[in-house]
Amino acid sequence: MRESLKNKQVRMQRIIEILYEIYPDSKCSLEHRSPFQLLISTMLSAQCTDDRVNLVTPKLFEHYPTAERMASAPVEHLAELVRSTGFFNNKAKNMSACAQTLLQEYGGEVPADLDALVKLPGVGRKTANVVLGTGFHIPGLVVDTHVIRIANLLEMTDQKDAVKIEMELQKIIDKEHWVMFTHLIIDHGRAVCIARRPQCHRCRLAEYCPSVLPEAAIKKQL
Ligand code: SF4
Repeated sequence: MRESLKNKQVRMQRIIEILYEIYPDSKCSLEHRSPFQLLISTMLSAQCTDDRVNLVTPKLFEHYPTAERMASAPVEHLAELVRSTGFFNNKAKNMSACAQTLLQEYGGEVPADLDALVKLPGVGRKTANVVLGTGFHIPGLVVDTHVIRIANLLEMTDQKDAVKIEMELQKIIDKEHWVMFTHLIIDHGRAVCIARRPQCHRCRLAEYCPSVLPEAAIKKQL
């Protein structure tokens, strides 16, 4: 039988409470000192780990801390600085174009507006929501690979498309938890509900998760 929206909301509320207990220090793991630096770090995190991004951004932002400075940077130098994050030529071109657009259209500031953000070169909906939520504390629900996978395991959605999942989760999760929800799920995806080997035997969400492994499989995990 299809679970009602009300039921999902109640179940999700309990899941979120538990996640807050398990990960009280959960936060965005990309280091940044301004919305601009968060925007660039998030762009760099495509197809790359946050840890790897955090290794390259100190030097990158030492040279180019603001949109104004990055707008006049040689693209080759940007590429060299972000080489280890992969797809570096594309990322460098996008960073340069994005910084130039910010300078020309927004006086070098990052706009705190979803529609404006997604029009910036190299900025997709996910990056825009990260910047809104973490950079400006405006509720934004970021749907990354962890959220897609775990929201499906929790049977909060059966969609695979990030935008459709975002719309569904917005109805299920209280707005005040939108930003933290993603951070909490990412922490849980890294620590317990690991892709292809979820540690159901030590998962505190098991009681609320329809995908918890059956007992025989859990015994194998032990
Ligand atoms: S019970 Fe298993 S599948 Fe469900 S969230 Fe926990 S680790 Fe993931």
